[in-house]
Amino acid sequence: MKNVLFVASECTPFVKIGGLADVIGSLPRALNQTNKVEVRVILPLYKEIKENWYGKLSLQSTFLVPLGWRKQEGILYTLEHEGIIYYFISNDYYFSRNSVYGYYDDGERFIFFSQAVIESLPYLDFTPDVLHGHDWQAGITVALAKILQPLEKLSTVFTIHNIKYQGVMPHHAFANFFNLPLTHFGGLEWGEMLNCLKGGIFHADKITTVSPSYAEEIKNPLNSEGLHPLLLERSSDLVGVLNGIDTNEFNPMMDPYLFTNYRHSRIKKKENKVALQEKIGLPKNGDIPLFVMITRLVEQKGLHLLKHIFDELLQENIQFVLLGYGDTDFEDYFSKASKRYPDKFFAQFTFDEELARQIYAGGDFFVMPSQFEPCGLSQLISLQYKTVPIVRETGGLKDTILPFDEETGTGNGFSFSNYNAHDLLYVMRYALTIYHEPILWKKLLKNVNRSKFSWRHSANEYTNIYSAL
Ligand code: ADP
Repeated sequence: MKNVLFVASECTPFVKIGGLADVIGSLPRALNQTNKVEVRVILPLYKEIKENWYGKLSLQSTFLVPLGWRKQEGILYTLEHEGIIYYFISNDYYFSRNSVYGYYDDGERFIFFSQAVIESLPYLDFTPDVLHGHDWQAGITVALAKILQPLEKLSTVFTIHNIKYQGVMPHHAFANFFNLPLTHFGGLEWGEMLNCLKGGIFHADKITTVSPSYAEEIKNPLNSEGLHPLLLERSSDLVGVLNGIDTNEFNPMMDPYLFTNYRHSRIKKKENKVALQEKIGLPKNGDIPLFVMITRLVEQKGLHLLKHIFDELLQENIQFVLLGYGDTDFEDYFSKASKRYPDKFFAQFTFDEELARQIYAGGDFFVMPSQFEPCGLSQLISLQYKTVPIVRETGGLKDTILPFDEETGTGNGFSFSNYNAHDLLYVMRYALTIYHEPILWKKLLKNVNRSKFSWRHSANEYTNIYSAL
């Protein structure tokens, strides 16, 4: 049995911004169920966690965290939730803020977190054999675990969930935030800047990313955000392990947020559509095709393509629902569009788990024309809710969605390859024709019903990685 400590910046049910939270919230359970490892998770104690979970947290210890020329206080809390033990690093100056990310000093905040994780190891009542860091916010923990060797046999794994976000700072941050000889700068630097993601990739014993296709794509200069030389150098230690989802959590039979629970019944799914239409003020019509999108409103998600064809698309007899928040340019555009098409298009710019579940259940098509997509969970969730994904063939979307083929009757969705707005429009129109062909539509839904992306297979791949270290 190996002990594994996950180091991450998001985790359901405590704090969620995107798919990283779903992964950190569900993969440890799947791993522990293999009985080959025990996984525990360490996170920053953000204000919202402190407020929502305060009564359940127990104080473990207090210590000082060296950060360049100063020492900051770190307070370690712990709690057990549904059989998993979580640790939290508290420091009000860094984490008692209204948002999780988006501050001028995010780099410093997560270097503090990374250093605090290393300092907390003697107080954990758990001796990790493997420290598994996730994304740039944990990159420096992985680097420090290698450089400082706080435990005798501590191996490291680093997972890239999205290479676009790297935690980059001016090079003088090295002197400011680290107590390391200058010889270590090279392992943390990229393009003469301090780069937290690079630090993780460079120092980890093994690097993983969240789908086999993305593992290939990020070695290519077109998709590597500049890191391809390093990834090529480390390619023998880089492997793509497809994310899964918690199929109990995302289960239309049990989901407490749904208007009507269902398994395969299209009639009950339609009831969810009509109830959703009523809730959000679109005309009630169970037969009208409903396209939906739940996403961060950022360029990565292919929103430029959608904008480009949106007026043309909405000439069709369809409805469209968008739930997301992010860049104000996109919010402005879609907010204006919802005024142009009040009977066809509804948009809400908030994070809303309850509405998200009702949209997954009410939709007929889930649209995901991403520019790049490391794995993508939304298409997997929509398959669970029997909502047909329409995706661009990139990263994990390519690995999970097979385009429907009328001849062979295979495929669990629709896809297009070039990052081109009219290719998206074409495939959405094609999807509509299949929707109106009962025999073909039934065939497609059968394939959707059969698509399963639980964690079981991937959990085994991770345990193999840990045992080979
Ligand atoms: P990413 O991690 O790049 O944001 P993923 O597809 O991997 O994309 O995961 C997104 C997760 O966040 C899904 O669980 C999705 O349902 C959820 N999500 C995104 N935006 C919202 C929102 N506005 N409200 C509720 N859930 C959201």
